[in-house]
Amino acid sequence: MIAPLEIWLENPSKTRSAGGSLATSLYSFPITICLTGDLGAGKTTFLQGFAEKLGIEDHISSPTYALEQRYVTKIGLPFVHLDLYRLPEKDAANIVDTTDDIEGIRCIEWADKLPKDYRFDRSIRIHLEESGDGRAITLSFDDFPLPDLAMIETWRSDVKLPAHIIRHCEAVARVCEQLADLLIARGHIVRKDALVAAAHIHDLLRFIDFRGAGPPGVTETEDERQTWNIWKRRYASMSHEAACAAFLREKKFPELASIVETHGLMIPQQEFMTTEQKLLFYADKRVIVDRVTTINERFTDFRLRYSDGKHTDKQMLWYEQTMKLEKELFPEGTPEL
Ligand code: ADP
Ligand code: MG
Repeated sequence: MIAPLEIWLENPSKTRSAGGSLATSLYSFPITICLTGDLGAGKTTFLQGFAEKLGIEDHISSPTYALEQRYVTKIGLPFVHLDLYRLPEKDAANIVDTTDDIEGIRCIEWADKLPKDYRFDRSIRIHLEESGDGRAITLSFDDFPLPDLAMIETWRSDVKLPAHIIRHCEAVARVCEQLADLLIARGHIVRKDALVAAAHIHDLLRFIDFRGAGPPGVTETEDERQTWNIWKRRYASMSHEAACAAFLREKKFPELASIVETHGLMIPQQEFMTTEQKLLFYADKRVIVDRVTTINERFTDFRLRYSDGKHTDKQMLWYEQTMKLEKELFPEGTPEL
């Protein structure tokens, strides 16, 4: 069970931007977003920010009289907004049933009007509550599965992942947690559990791309090499990022796969990345083996190891993208870790 995420929103614009941030943390469709909270708690305000970020140009208002309003997102996903406020339990269930075929996003205000045993395949439950001058928002994610740490540890030992890569993954996971907390404190939704799981697993097949010597003092055994060769053949011609994503899809964790897929050297298209993809990509650039570092030092280390200390065009582009990402995520400056 994934722990609920709690965020404090000090004013209406924070509620809106929290809604906007949910739009960059969606992984699978169809999905149902259930909103609960008293009249005036901020449910519609949250959805306004959410819809706007999804590129819906119409103004979202409470469909209290219309019951249901339909829109289309900028990438063509159907978006339906329901408000069950005035409905008795039976009618609420009926009207929700009629939207079961929506392939995109279904948002339901007053979802607590539904019968207690009403279930959705994939949902995110959001509760808003007045608290002091602002609002407390609680999000429970029930839209995709995550492997637990025991499962990840089994996979690591199955592939004979070297100890220094495990230490790297743990260090990146700690950095991810800290970065997530910084954004959450600012009212930004981050799926911390998914992000941390992705960090723990992101280099599961790192040995596929091992070139040259490892860090000082690290030697490979024949046994390790033999095991690694099996995985290299299995994911022949793939980078370790793509291979890990393929591995996770085979294990039925496609959403986690998509977070891991973009973490490495491949230049991602930033505007299409999710918050968790961005944070993992960035966190990985703040860690050398298991030591927290700066972007500059990480890239210097990278050049020394892979191109005799020389700049290459690809590295420069990668570096610029990382800096741009840092500015976007942390406009107040490089986070202290
Ligand atoms: P609901 O849809 O839950 O009935 P609304 O979204 O219509 O609630 O919001 C009710 C009021 O609460 C609006 O005036 C809105 O600006 C205000 N509001 C929303 N979020 C906050 C917040 N974080 N702090 C203070 N007021 C807020
Ligand atoms: Mg409302």
